[in-house]
Amino acid sequence: MNLQSASREQLQAFEAELSQQYDTYQAAGLNLDLTRGKPSTEQVALSNNLDGILSGNYFAADGTDLRNYGGLDGLPEMKQLFADTFGLDASSIAIAGNSSLTLMYQSVMFAQHFGLGAEAWNKEEGEVKFLCPVPGYDRHFSICEELGIAMIPVAMNENGPLMDEVEALIKADPMIKGIWCVPRFSNPTGCVYSAEVVGRIAALGKIAGKGFKVFWDNAYAVHVLNDNAEELTSITDCAKDAGTEDNILLFGSTSKVTFAGAGVAFLAAASPALSAFKKHLAISSIGPDKVNQQRHIDLLKDAEGFKRHMAKHAVILKPRFDIVEKHLSEGLAAAGIATWLKPEGGYFVSFDSMPGLAKEVVAMAAKAGVKLTPAGATYPYGDDPLDTNIRIAPTYPAIEDIDQAMGIFVTCVKLASVRKLLSA
Ligand code: PMP
Repeated sequence: MNLQSASREQLQAFEAELSQQYDTYQAAGLNLDLTRGKPSTEQVALSNNLDGILSGNYFAADGTDLRNYGGLDGLPEMKQLFADTFGLDASSIAIAGNSSLTLMYQSVMFAQHFGLGAEAWNKEEGEVKFLCPVPGYDRHFSICEELGIAMIPVAMNENGPLMDEVEALIKADPMIKGIWCVPRFSNPTGCVYSAEVVGRIAALGKIAGKGFKVFWDNAYAVHVLNDNAEELTSITDCAKDAGTEDNILLFGSTSKVTFAGAGVAFLAAASPALSAFKKHLAISSIGPDKVNQQRHIDLLKDAEGFKRHMAKHAVILKPRFDIVEKHLSEGLAAAGIATWLKPEGGYFVSFDSMPGLAKEVVAMAAKAGVKLTPAGATYPYGDDPLDTNIRIAPTYPAIEDIDQAMGIFVTCVKLASVRKLLSA
């Protein structure tokens, strides 16, 4: 039944029924959690062979002793593995540490204080600003907040950020120094940026102020749920064509491939940005964990091995996403009170309620024992102006828990919507 066109009597009857259902959930005292965008225990177990894989051989292919200092920007074989998997040139890659988020934080700081192949942003008059496609990844926004960078939200659709708006903002303000992008299976919408959007983002350097950088966070580049999931156009190829290679910083890691927190992360950039990054990195590190890099080379082997490994993740993840979709489509598709996208990869389902209801739904779900990411977290400063967006993270919980939690979630959405319609 479409609730938007239901009669008052129908809505009242429905409200009574839903309230009863909700009270039953509340009384059950459940404790379910859909907040965590982290791999499940089954997923991390796919990489248990990392332990002991070196069998006491601590030497890289070129004879480097992995146990000792050195090799600041990573082993050549690890660079090649990332290059082949992400469609990059190995010479553009620096491997450092286990976290791409750390590399993003460092890149913003280095660009601010020292410059990354351009003058430091802080040397210019005026406040540094970033464009933040929304809904987006809260930790990107936290980096900006921590480093005193103002954030300008820009809407997205299923093809990525609205580029007319992005270009107009950038043309008007040379102090916009960055844009955050999660281009394939975006966090949280799951959209894949279209070829046109990738091309236009690649060319932004032509109209932006000095030292502008695209932060191309390809965190979910290989995290597909279906074999035929939409591919991403290469931004490095587009930037080569546009002559804007200096404006692109690309990031990725194996956090959701092998062990989250014990993987390998990389930054890819053209020089002089890459050499500037390495120069500053060298002040803070004598070298990364090469033992772990070699373990990853031995486990994943090559781009095909990477792909085979990701296919095993998909087998675990697909039923989790399917159960979310089943609840949403069976419970809400006909009701006309919510929208969501069905992702072909990544870690999230992005859900939009009727305006003004996201916070209420999250609070209602919490009272019924289902923890959701706080409403607003997907917007800069935690401020979702329409209060509609809720991020659902189904990767970590057990399937039965997702099933139960989504049933409760759908009830909360319907109950909050019916009450809103009744009060209108
Ligand atoms: N970028 C995005 C878009 C993410 O969703 C995440 C993890 N949730 C990260 C980066 C973090 O990556 P890493 O573990 O490499 O720091």
